[in-house]
Amino acid sequence: KDAVAAPSLPPFDYSPSQYAGPTADEILAKRRAYLSPSIMHFYKNPVNIVEGRKQYLFDEEGRRYVDAFGGIATVCCGHCHPDVVEAIVNQTKKLQHSTVLYLNHAITDFAQALASKLPGRLKVVFFTNSGTEANELAILIAKLYTGCHDIISLRNAYHGNAAGTMGATAMSSWKFNVVQSGVHHAVNPDPYRGIFGADGEKYARDVQDIINFGTSGNVAAFISEAIEGVGGIIELAPGYLPAVYNTIKKAGGLCIADEVQAGFGRTGSHFWGFEAHNVVPDIVTMAKGIGNGIPLGAVVTTPEIAEVLTRRSYFNTFGGNPVCTAAGLAVLKVIEKEKLQQNAFVVGSYLKERLTALKDKYELIGDVRGRGLMLGVELVTDRAKKTPANAEILHVMEQMKELGVLIGKGGYYGNVFRITPPLCFTKEDADFVADAMDLTLSRM
Ligand code: PLP
Repeated sequence: KDAVAAPSLPPFDYSPSQYAGPTADEILAKRRAYLSPSIMHFYKNPVNIVEGRKQYLFDEEGRRYVDAFGGIATVCCGHCHPDVVEAIVNQTKKLQHSTVLYLNHAITDFAQALASKLPGRLKVVFFTNSGTEANELAILIAKLYTGCHDIISLRNAYHGNAAGTMGATAMSSWKFNVVQSGVHHAVNPDPYRGIFGADGEKYARDVQDIINFGTSGNVAAFISEAIEGVGGIIELAPGYLPAVYNTIKKAGGLCIADEVQAGFGRTGSHFWGFEAHNVVPDIVTMAKGIGNGIPLGAVVTTPEIAEVLTRRSYFNTFGGNPVCTAAGLAVLKVIEKEKLQQNAFVVGSYLKERLTALKDKYELIGDVRGRGLMLGVELVTDRAKKTPANAEILHVMEQMKELGVLIGKGGYYGNVFRITPPLCFTKEDADFVADAMDLTLSRM
């Protein structure tokens, strides 16, 4: 008999519709036959997810799971939020797409609402289709504005997978052998594994060294997240960003905040991740949560900086599609109306406490970190050596799935649970996730 009680799913008054589609095995066979072999999954037998409501997902048999990964930190308002669905349906019925040659208020209304969420002179929006595209554009803008080519990003960063962003990305598992001229990767201010612990100012000196020894003395930009998502939920050491922003400004460069994961209230304490560090970037990029999962991204900058794009024609076909921007506007309203940022703070703090208590109980948990509903749990087989628990994490993940929790993982070593659920997550959901982890770890 288990020493730890089995978790019970919080009640939820919803019955998914009867599923009559192909089985998981049939879909998997087609996926193997027709989708790129690079498409990955963590589970031995991936689940066939046929419906989603709020923070829950349903498989082909109507079994409910807590979605602790929230898409991939995309579904901020909850799956199929009625206001977002309505905005998408209404806009789809009216106009699905037009060209930038005409006017349409679905696009400008959202641009205005988005600009109102950003500080200072960050008021000019350019819509893209993804986070990668947003970061590509931000890097291009910085190069044009400064006339420099050197970009500094952090080791362990993930910024996308196109030519420029793959250069800025700094994890070998995400990099192909492509030319990445002009990119320098700074020591990661990682309080858990980093050489200077949580001393942000010490790490910041490496950026000055890169400028001194690896560039002409001037750079185009520094790009980073406030909390590295794919990198394993690493909150940059306190004091790091203000010091680096200063250094970059002195070197004539622009500071780019990649808010693809941490934005839209996910960190609870602030709407944007960078705000917790008391810095104001020159360019902010975003995607994921912006449309509750609808493909959309954006770059926001100042009027002076945005001006550089007028030197040539610059445009993309789908960026700022009215259906996506209508979804985006609905998302902003829902976050405000339902106080989702505040909820992320309260529920996220509670879940972090529960997970931290598990760390005290199980040696396998090396670190619990993050803010709001962007939390990480790093598994190690040896706490002193911080040996990544790679096999163990896959086992825990599989067992938690059996108990009804779908969760993400990442980090350079692939040994960190990433907990980024929809921001409507409740304390009962948090208990369910922590209880499922507790039970699984107790059985190992
Ligand atoms: N930036 C960050 C911080 C991300 O986490 C990601 C994706 O995970 C990207 C950029 C790339 O976004 P996309 O996958 O939408 O291209």
